[in-house]
Amino acid sequence: MSHKFKVVLIIIVIHLVILALTLLIIELMPDRSSYSFKLGVLDCNNLGRLTGCQHEIGHKMDDDLGMPSLTPEFAISTQAIVQEMLISLKPNDLAIFIEVYPDKDPRELYAGIYAYVGGDISKLPHSLQQYYSGERSYSKLYDCLARTGINVCGRSVSFLT
Ligand SMILES: [Zn+2]
Repeated sequence: MSHKFKVVLIIIVIHLVILALTLLIIELMPDRSSYSFKLGVLDCNNLGRLTGCQHEIGHKMDDDLGMPSLTPEFAISTQAIVQEMLISLKPNDLAIFIEVYPDKDPRELYAGIYAYVGGDISKLPHSLQQYYSGERSYSKLYDCLARTGINVCGRSVSFLT
């Protein structure tokens, strides 16, 4: 192996190690996105992992619609999806998602379901669609927040860099 080749190889390895460490650090960063129910302001601050943004937009939607997540009807509808899967013995991704969702706060489940379908409520069963809004303003907000850099979108803000 020539000396020049060894130097190039070492430089490539160093770059790969730096890349791997950067990816590891990003992966270990906590998702610091949040939504303030008091202020109605969304902070999308998750370094590129945009499911966090969708989750917070789900909270905003819930807030805008008068908290359908806290109604007994929403709880009944989500449990019916799980029951249906258990009775039919057919695996259903959404039913499994609902069943294993770790946070028992219905507001979290509501936002979690919204993020799970990537903000596309047409992917939800009809029994759940009624609790969500198909308003374009929510996908527009997501598109605005998802741009790289610091963005102020309405009253919400993203810090993705
Ligand atoms: Zn949440």
